[in-house]
Parts: sequence; C-alpha cells; structure tokens
Amino acid sequence: MDGTAPASRTKVTAIPGDGIGPEVMRATRQVLEAAGARIEWEEAMAGAEAFRKGIGSGAPRETLDSIACNGVALKGPLETPVGHGEKSANVTLRKVFEMYGNIRPVREIPGIRTPFAGRGIDFVVVRENVEDLYAGVEHMQTPGVAQCLKLITEVGCERIVRLAACLAEAEGRSKVTVATKANIMKLTEGMMKRVGEAVLKEHANLQHEHMIVDNCAHQMVIRPEQFDVVVMTNMNGDILSDLAAGLVGGLGVAPSANLGDGVAMFEAVHGSAPQIAGKGLANPTALLLSAVMMLRHIGDFETAAKVEHALYVTLEEGRDLTGDIAPEGEGVGTDAYVARLIGNL
Ligand code: NAD
Repeated sequence: MDGTAPASRTKVTAIPGDGIGPEVMRATRQVLEAAGARIEWEEAMAGAEAFRKGIGSGAPRETLDSIACNGVALKGPLETPVGHGEKSANVTLRKVFEMYGNIRPVREIPGIRTPFAGRGIDFVVVRENVEDLYAGVEHMQTPGVAQCLKLITEVGCERIVRLAACLAEAEGRSKVTVATKANIMKLTEGMMKRVGEAVLKEHANLQHEHMIVDNCAHQMVIRPEQFDVVVMTNMNGDILSDLAAGLVGGLGVAPSANLGDGVAMFEAVHGSAPQIAGKGLANPTALLLSAVMMLRHIGDFETAAKVEHALYVTLEEGRDLTGDIAPEGEGVGTDAYVARLIGNL
C-alpha cells in the first residue's frame, strides 16, 4: 500500500449493537464519510435484538456470513444477558472467527486530563482472546463447589506471542513483556511463559522480559512508560487492559481490534451504557479510534491520519466535548461534538 486512500470502496460489516451502539456508530460513520473514507458499509445485527428473536448465539447467520465475506467489521457494544441461559454475542463472534488476538493500544491522548498525563505512556496490550477461563467449561463439582477450567494450549500461546512480536516489529517498537502467573499456575501460565520465551528468542531485534502479572499491574501504575508491548493470557489481559485504559482516559476513549487469521473486528472497549442510551450524550471517541485502527488495517493510512489529527485537534481545543470528558458543566451532546470534529478535518 502507498498510503493513499484505496481507489475502490472496501466493504465493511457495521454492527451498530445495543444501547449507545447505534448512536456512536452513526457518529463514527459521519466522521469517516466526511473524511472521504472509501468504505461501503454492510449493516448487520447482533446482540439484544438477536436474543429477542430467539437466536441463542446472539449473532444471526446473515451477520456471520457478512463478516466472513468482508473479512472486516466495525462493531458497537453488545449487551450480554445476565442471569439467563444465552451466551455472550461477543464471545460467539470471537469464537466463530477464532479471533484469538485482542489488541488494545494504550496511548496518551492530547487534551484528555488524567493523573498520568505527560508521562509519555505509549504501549499496546495484546490479550489472548479465546482460551483460558473463557473457554466456557464451568460446572458445579458438588453442591457448594464450582469449577471452571483454565484451558491453555501451546498453539494458542505461540500464535498470540507471535502476533505480539509481529505487531512490535511492524510498529517499530523494541520490547515485548510476557506477563504471567507462572509462579503459581506452573502448567497453564507456565506454558505461556515458556512458549513466549521460545518465540521471542526468534525475534533477535526485540528485547523481551517476563514479569509476574501482579507485579505487572503494579508497574503499570507506578511506571507505565516502561512498557512497549505486553502479552497475556485471556483473563489477565482482560483485567490489565482495562487498568491500562484507565491510565490514559478510561473506557470512553479506549479502542480495540480483535484479530483472527481471516477476519478483523474493531470495537470500542466500553459497553452499551444503558443509562445514557438514546439521550444523544454518548462519546463516540472510542469507536472512532477503533475505526482509525480499521482504516490502517485496510490500508487507508491517509484517511486514518486525517481523522486522528482532527480528533486530537478537537480534544486539545477542549470545546464542544461530550460530558464524560468535558470540564464540569460544559459537556455537549454527540451531534455537537461530531460537528466540531468534522469542522476540524
Ligand atoms: P459500560 O461500558 O456500558 O458503562 C460503564 C460506564 O461508562 C457507565 O457509566 C457509562 O455511562 C459510561 N460510558 C461507557 N461508554 C461511554 C461512552 N461512549 N460515552 C459516555 N459514557 C460512556 O459498562 P457496563 O455498564 O458494565 O455494561 C453495560 C452493558 O454492556 C452490559 O450488558 C455488558 O455486558 C455490555 N458490554 C459489552 C461490551 C462489548 O460489546 N464489547 C463491553 C463491555 C460491556
């Protein structure tokens, strides 16, 4: 790719999702269209509406076909039913397309005030996305005793560490940290440590280190600027990637990508925020930053840079920001924020 916008339109599956999902998806698409992104959107449904229609997986066949065919999706948050039988539609999508790599960039964003601002935080959490305690093998052993299986494979460890190393190289980063609980779970977490070290030895241009995951949580708070790429098993990565998002402004501005061998799905880290859904108050920044990652994935570096620049200018100006990131009492609605963003393109 030469960095200019692709001449033909790239087909992308858009899943607006639940709660604030349709609002942040509409806002994101408006900004991308104003920036000249050459995308042909194919809208698809998943989540609450699918469950209401009796689709137990939360993702209808047409949605799965659309993602399989296009290979790229932008997804809004999907509500996970609590307390009844259905699965998480998010987990269904990850599993069906074997999206084993969850990529969570953690970078200071201009204009976002946090206690850590100015420290130069810029790292990526690479979380294994399909194995571990999330394999869904959980049962009552005897009354009063529940058991959940922690499933870790060499194949799973190898491909996630390889992904972390390739990402480090592609982004010109120099160090990969493998964070595990190998000191206690010697076979499962130990496998991640052992396989991780073997894979990283093949990448002589990268420094690598192992860190016990609880110390890694501590280090992320006291000296976050030391990290470059951090790779973890699923549950450790789930928890520490949210901690890391908190360092640079929180879930409202945290983007992510889910990568499999043939499919990439980009989504905000936050959920459906039912308390503010339908009120025109949602902050679309996280989905917009996810869309910037998506533009780079499809080779449209020019539009990605344009959107990212407009976003940073808008946040630095500090005018017309949504309530979650604006100074007390100065928040505006999604539409006014989007208008300001588009004006800065
Ligand atoms: P949440 O992220 O929806 O909300 C947490 C807090 O952040 C709330 O106060 C909310 O108002 C605020 N918030 C989140 N996104 C915001 C935005 N863009 N703009 C402004 N404020 C924002 O988390 P939750 O309440 O724990 O979950 C709600 C639902 O979302 C649940 O059903 C959960 O399962 C689902 N969920 C989905 C995903 C996903 O699809 N990837 C991720 C997390 C949670």
